[in-house]
Amino acid sequence: MGFPGSAEAFASSKCAMDDITRDWLGRTEWKMRYRTAFNSGGYGVHPSVSSFRMHPEAHDYGGRLIEALHDLGRNHSATGEPVSYTWTGLAGAKVCKTGYHRYGAALDFTKFAWGSEALVDLAVHGESDSLRMRRRYLAVVAVCRKFFGTVLHVHNDPDGSHWHHIHVDRGREGVALDWDFGTDVTIVQWAARDLAGMTEMVIDGIWGPQTRSGYELLRDRFGARSVDPTAAADDGHAWMDLIARHGMADGDAGEFTID
Ligand SMILES: [Zn+2]
Repeated sequence: MGFPGSAEAFASSKCAMDDITRDWLGRTEWKMRYRTAFNSGGYGVHPSVSSFRMHPEAHDYGGRLIEALHDLGRNHSATGEPVSYTWTGLAGAKVCKTGYHRYGAALDFTKFAWGSEALVDLAVHGESDSLRMRRRYLAVVAVCRKFFGTVLHVHNDPDGSHWHHIHVDRGREGVALDWDFGTDVTIVQWAARDLAGMTEMVIDGIWGPQTRSGYELLRDRFGARSVDPTAAADDGHAWMDLIARHGMADGDAGEFTID
């Protein structure tokens, strides 16, 4: 459908557009839970199933995102044992403040869980000492980017609040990648660092020579020389799928190739 442009979205804090209220995303059994606090380890506390108001389109695309995470757990879990998706933590959806939350077109995720065996806490794992957990966080960022064009996270954090949640919105749709967007550049930088071993890579969302060499390294490892993620949405999605598979499976770049 297309939401208003960002100048208009940020010009007011008044809620607008239709919304629905749901306590699930993707399938009715995949409930949402509101994060009320953090425990002493810094993990989110999500005591009960919660309903959220959001635009029907955000609910639809959020559901596709969770379905994709379920498939990722079934096919590419780090242990090799398939895991099934169970529930989603959120900090908010439709909120009467400036930006896409006021249309209900934005979701703030706090946790994705495939049972107690596999989860990612978005306040803890983005900067974990564990490469496996950082890769899992990167995997969910990549899946988010297939369905939402703007993804703010621990390494793409213009206002300093995204160290504890991932914001996605449909102000930008799941279009081809574009190196003028921090959302897209940070994913490539992060993948180069944590999948391809470019430990010196700076994740700053700015395209430059170092990022280009990281991109070219990934492109070679992924066998993706002929797939330009900026050419078309499907090509961008193919790259996000590759990054997500490696991230979830805790694999080094090249474990999966584009075909
Ligand atoms: Zn948000």
